[in-house]
Amino acid sequence: APSAPPVTASALARPPAKPAIFIPVNRSPEMQEERLKLPILAEEQVIMEAVAEHPIVIVCGETGSGKTTQVPQFLYEAGYSSDNSIIGVTEPRRVAAVAMSQRVAKEMNLSPRVVSYQIRYEGNVTEETRIKFMTDGVLLKEIQKDFLLLKYKVLIIDEAHERSVYTDILIGLLSRIVCLRAKRHLPLKLLIMSATLRVEDFTQNQRLFAQPPPVIKVESRQFPVTVHFNKRTPLEDYSGECFRKVCKIHRMLPAGGILVFLTGQAEVHALCRRLRRAFPLARHRLPDPCQLGCVETSLAKVPGVPGSLGRGVQWASAFPAGEQPDASIPLHVLPLYSLLAPEKQAQVFQPPPEGTRLCVVATNVAETSLTIPGIKYVVDCGKVKKRHYDRVTGVSSFRVTWVSQASADQRAGRAGRTEPGHCYRLYSSAVFEDFEKFPPPEITRRPVEDLILQMKALNIEKVINFPFPTPPSIEALIAAEELLIALGALQAPPKTERMKQLQRSRLSCPITVLGRTMATFPVAPRYAKMLALSRQHGCLPYAITIVAAMTVRELFEELDRPAASDEELAKLKGKRARVAQMKRIWAGQGASLKLGDLMVLLGAVGACEYSGCSLQFCEANGLRYKAMMEIRRLRGQLTTAVNAVCPEAGLFVDPKMQPPSESQVTYLRQIVTAGLGDHLARRVQSEDLLDEKWKNAYKTPLLDEPVFIHPSSVLFKELPDFVVYQEIVETTKMYMKGVSTVEVQWIPVLLPSYCQFDKPLEEPPPTYCPEKGRVQCHQAICVFWADPCAPD
Ligand code: ADP
Ligand code: MG
Repeated sequence: APSAPPVTASALARPPAKPAIFIPVNRSPEMQEERLKLPILAEEQVIMEAVAEHPIVIVCGETGSGKTTQVPQFLYEAGYSSDNSIIGVTEPRRVAAVAMSQRVAKEMNLSPRVVSYQIRYEGNVTEETRIKFMTDGVLLKEIQKDFLLLKYKVLIIDEAHERSVYTDILIGLLSRIVCLRAKRHLPLKLLIMSATLRVEDFTQNQRLFAQPPPVIKVESRQFPVTVHFNKRTPLEDYSGECFRKVCKIHRMLPAGGILVFLTGQAEVHALCRRLRRAFPLARHRLPDPCQLGCVETSLAKVPGVPGSLGRGVQWASAFPAGEQPDASIPLHVLPLYSLLAPEKQAQVFQPPPEGTRLCVVATNVAETSLTIPGIKYVVDCGKVKKRHYDRVTGVSSFRVTWVSQASADQRAGRAGRTEPGHCYRLYSSAVFEDFEKFPPPEITRRPVEDLILQMKALNIEKVINFPFPTPPSIEALIAAEELLIALGALQAPPKTERMKQLQRSRLSCPITVLGRTMATFPVAPRYAKMLALSRQHGCLPYAITIVAAMTVRELFEELDRPAASDEELAKLKGKRARVAQMKRIWAGQGASLKLGDLMVLLGAVGACEYSGCSLQFCEANGLRYKAMMEIRRLRGQLTTAVNAVCPEAGLFVDPKMQPPSESQVTYLRQIVTAGLGDHLARRVQSEDLLDEKWKNAYKTPLLDEPVFIHPSSVLFKELPDFVVYQEIVETTKMYMKGVSTVEVQWIPVLLPSYCQFDKPLEEPPPTYCPEKGRVQCHQAICVFWADPCAPD
């Protein structure tokens, strides 16, 4: 493969390709000084030259080298946002999009009206916006509205090394959009930024870029990090080992923040609690060293790196090694994970209180997207929790696995940002050698029906020909296409077997009118189908609420976590009982209970909004406030999307929404059945019982194993004959979550493509009628299967 043209110093000698525009920025002197320390500042000239000369440029540099915060500023100053155009930056994580826009606005002394962000649920973009941080999903939606993305002169795809699906798709799409824009003499510049040097999937992929783009490497001023492996074979109890390691570091080693990598929220909290108990903040306030007769000036000379211990440690180090008073220095312990409330997340950027040592206990969000200042010690458990999808069955489970070598090295690198550091790996070097080199790109690990629908809506019919940086497997593509056909979003290929195979091998079913409507809703295709079906009998507001709640995961707090004390255990137990009681109330009786867990979601959101959506209400009832806020925003967004499709619906989000009537609940159940049709499960009857393991079990079309209703479900004890479920998660058993009951007679009407018929169906199959903006089969559903009720 051709190698990338080198960017050399001679490039600097040439005059810039365009007359230099310079938009002045009024930074504070302190900010300017901070910036000048960042390695990327030395590369500004090289980067801007490359951008001027090439349509696509790749920038690689260690995390913390300043890519995200500085490159948008370089582009701004060079006039890439003149003529009212925008510099767009995409991030795979919402946290990063928000935090980085705030940081850049602060550095540039500009208002959030100018440096703004847009994530799925919210944004502060205005007419004045010149730099816009957004999630990659947001940009993908914008491409649907304006394929050429004319409002941007330059786009930065950040964190490309994370290989999130949307980032991958964006890079594929933008490789084409850049060419189209060039043809129209409206050039678009594309910058791809990555924390690792592994960019061959982008540079050496000739389907992606005919000419490999130049790669600019930012030499980072990384200080050496000494890596210490554990001698012993890895431990099961890595949390306990983390605790012991942090205690040791804190007692024995000089100033410097500690960053611990664990795998999940529950673990993070447990370790935080243990550490806080061991090194409480309030106890053992140190006397002022001056009062002890120490010389103030000698203390003041100690370099005041943010996160350093300040005076306290100096005083402690006046003791002979090993004789420091135990726990004399308080530890400022902070958790960090993606579901944490934003204001708590922001705390890690603040310097710790004087005389304390910072200790951040994080999941892998701290690996590359956020750089915490002042970290000198990293404790790495070597594990990561990832959602794992079974490609055949669609069962997802969270699995804790070893990280890749690249991730382990990223984690270690966090220790050498401000001075030489140490990384303690709680596993042996032999184990490390067995790690995968790089984590596999997300697109190879998860279902892709949402992506395929988006691509079809962009008129990319032959998905198989799309220039994916790494293509998904052919099985995943076929599974996605089949689901979309079953949902009516794609046209089914002709019936003959041979034609079917041919069609599949090309994977080129065109999108239907229904599919186009579905693609405008910012939710997964199954849920989009529910929305498309809901325009009847006043069901839309309820369907929108249910879909919003299903999309925002984890509405209920995790209450199965281990308790730190008896007191806490009693509290947890009390809360569990309370939540179970509230779930029963929200689910109701009779018809409403049949909607099951989805009725619980509807009831919870309804009750919470009715009560003014207070933090107290959420806390008292085991609801996550943050999730509730997201649901509220998504409801607003979905309402807007539905109004755009059928303006005459004139929907609005009503906080005081009445509970649905009995017949509405039945329609909702049918709508849910139609959307989740491939997630149908049948109760195993007693005559089918082969052995004990099938007791109370359900059978699904794809799984040979028994599946069960999750104990947290309100239908756990009801055991209906047929159910649909939101997802199956595998823990000790295969459990269905988000369960709703189905009447057997609905199945041939609502889900004909999952049925085999002796003779052809008499009713015409469901069709979408664009004139009326609704799916025709509704009438059939209502007439045939619902409680008698006048259609609206
Ligand atoms: P990269 O994108 O190369 O990983 P960044 O641009 O994110 O690097 O970070 C550059 C520097 O800015 C880092 O030293 C980081 O600590 C600092 N920084 C980023 N966000 C904040 C913030 N909110 N508060 C203080 N410092 C920050
Ligand atoms: Mg970054």
